[in-house]
Amino acid sequence: MIFRGAVLLAGAFLLTSCMKTEPASSSTGPKTWGKTAEGENVNLYTLSNSKGMQATVTDYGARIVTLVVPDRNGTPGNVTLGFDSLDGYQKENPYFGAIVGRYGNRIAKGRFTLDGVEYKLAVNNGANSLHGGLKGFDKRVWTARQDRPDKLELTYVSRDGEEGYPGNMSTTVVYTMGDDNSLRIDYTITTDKATVHNVTNHAYFNLAGPGNGDVLGHRIMIAADRFTPVDAGLIPTGELKPVEGTPFDFRQPHAIGERIEAKDQQIEYGKGYDHNWVLNGEMGALRPAVKVSEPTTGRVMEVLTTEPGVQFYTGNFLDGTLTGSGGKAYKFRYGFCLETQHYPDSPNHPDFPTTVIKPGEKYRSATVYKFSTEAAK
Ligand code: BGC
Repeated sequence: MIFRGAVLLAGAFLLTSCMKTEPASSSTGPKTWGKTAEGENVNLYTLSNSKGMQATVTDYGARIVTLVVPDRNGTPGNVTLGFDSLDGYQKENPYFGAIVGRYGNRIAKGRFTLDGVEYKLAVNNGANSLHGGLKGFDKRVWTARQDRPDKLELTYVSRDGEEGYPGNMSTTVVYTMGDDNSLRIDYTITTDKATVHNVTNHAYFNLAGPGNGDVLGHRIMIAADRFTPVDAGLIPTGELKPVEGTPFDFRQPHAIGERIEAKDQQIEYGKGYDHNWVLNGEMGALRPAVKVSEPTTGRVMEVLTTEPGVQFYTGNFLDGTLTGSGGKAYKFRYGFCLETQHYPDSPNHPDFPTTVIKPGEKYRSATVYKFSTEAAK
């Protein structure tokens, strides 16, 4: 009887496995993409939905390599800056498409104190530590798993002491594509020792296509009444300043270029926009944060997040020296980033939302980039 039951069960299992759609790994990927300088294998994965939206993601830095969405005529096109081959990503580049960590953005002087112990981090941005240090999450090969065409899971375990940070910290990033032309990123973080974290995605967008001109004509709206002003080294002063009456007021849509050259000390420090906005609404709740539209293609991107802030960076350090996908140069302000995050330098600002994680805790966060189109005006 027991044996017969087992056979029936096995039969049912076989039947249901045959009914399942083929795993993406056998149809769309992964593809071998090359090796790192240290000889690690790097792969390229494809994600797709049933509406023709497609992305390629590499396990090298968990980077979005391409993200293809339709324009207002239904013509698909890539909207992120990147390179055609792994080679480009392994050379010096400003975090194209990458997951940055352990701490995205800056920690002043690369130092912070936790539970009475001062930690000294790798310094790589003037006197400060930026995006995790010299070899951050963007330069690590993540462990990837893909069971479905619309979903990719990547994990990286950062070792105790890596780049100066305490604790073995595990980060899992899941990219999921929705049939509403959305790309959702779920982050889960755990640690075995108290540490700090601020993991985000650093994709550069140009809704008219990478290399197709600057982003100054894009219109952007940011749901934030306040931002965190910075000093000349782009470290927050600690103030949460109202955007009212400043070039940082995007509560109504404005062209990115409209006030980007304004005579304003904050704009001068950032060489344009390179600041953290304090998002309205409740942190932890997935809520609309940003909306960007590009008039010539009609593409619209909405960003929703559970994070308390977003770094809006307008590619002020791009200078045309990097040649990207399709042989096009990435010039001054040819892309913008919307890095959903905790505020920069939070470990040194006890009044900012905390970035500390302790053993036994599980930090979860989500960000959605949702694409649509609008008619010509
Ligand atoms: C920072 C910029 C930096 C860029 C590339 C952004 O997140 O805010 O200052 O130049 O990343 O590293």
